Amino acid sequence: MRWSINQAVVGSYEGSEVVRVLVGEEQREFTLHRKLLCDSCAFFQTHIDAIPSPSGSRDGNEDEDSVLWLPNEAPDMFESLVLWLYQRRSFSSFIEAATRRMSPDECRTLRTNLVHLHLFAAVIDLPALQDAAMDALQDTYLRLDWDMSPRFLAFLYGDCDPQHAVRLRRWAVAMLAWTLHGADDEATVMAGQIDRLFAAYPDLQADYNMHLRKTAQSRADVRIKNPQLRLPANKLRSGERMFGFRQCTFHSHRATVGEGMCPHALALGHSLVTVPVRRRDRKDEAESDGSEADRLIISPVGDLNETSYLDLS
Ligand SMILES: [Zn+2]
Repeated sequence: MRWSINQAVVGSYEGSEVVRVLVGEEQREFTLHRKLLCDSCAFFQTHIDAIPSPSGSRDGNEDEDSVLWLPNEAPDMFESLVLWLYQRRSFSSFIEAATRRMSPDECRTLRTNLVHLHLFAAVIDLPALQDAAMDALQDTYLRLDWDMSPRFLAFLYGDCDPQHAVRLRRWAVAMLAWTLHGADDEATVMAGQIDRLFAAYPDLQADYNMHLRKTAQSRADVRIKNPQLRLPANKLRSGERMFGFRQCTFHSHRATVGEGMCPHALALGHSLVTVPVRRRDRKDEAESDGSEADRLIISPVGDLNETSYLDLS
């Protein structure tokens, strides 16, 4: 998938200085507004401040050294970062619109990019981006009705730095519990593989057991508390908490916000629309609490602006 920025968005920043960012071994080039990038986080500020300003060079030659190279990052991941940088409030809408048009394979590639985006945001300490990537992942899994896969778990517990992946792991473990306790084919497939996974990754087993303990303590039912569902508030009635997770459960600031509003609410562009609950939840809802059976779950998916600046190509 390629996100391309057309001239309208560049024009809206006309007059400000730009910086070239080369990403990956192939050095895919992104031309971005210096101030926008610097203002996003200390990582970019530090690295870009070290680049000589083109306006200070003779003849204003912009080719002179105004380049930042990130050799170890994936260009497709960085492209998602650029999308977020320029279209922060519409980020989830763009991802949502993209998944509607994409083939299943393309959706999986998008998922991989979002995971790498989340990890990169952890590395450069950019919590707002982490949380936007987390939201987009949850929404994508909900929209496409995906379960957690053994391969994804093996990646998170085998290949990733534990600190950088801590929030992805927390979410993936909740997804694993929910998948394993489902009654569908995927649950059977996963159950057959889980012992091998636990043997290979003891941290996964420990996190999984802790998740089950905490869920039991909160008197939630792991079969119906769906980690794909990000409920639109942190202050929820106990009935609501049964079926999904608080808005900020997998966010970077989870411990500090309590039952208050998500500090990124505006930047994340949360405009609330309702989407139906997936079938498994409906069935169990009806069994557990008839009054909730026809309830719609609200998900922060905004409207896509037809005159948006970014095009999919
Ligand atoms: Zn939050």
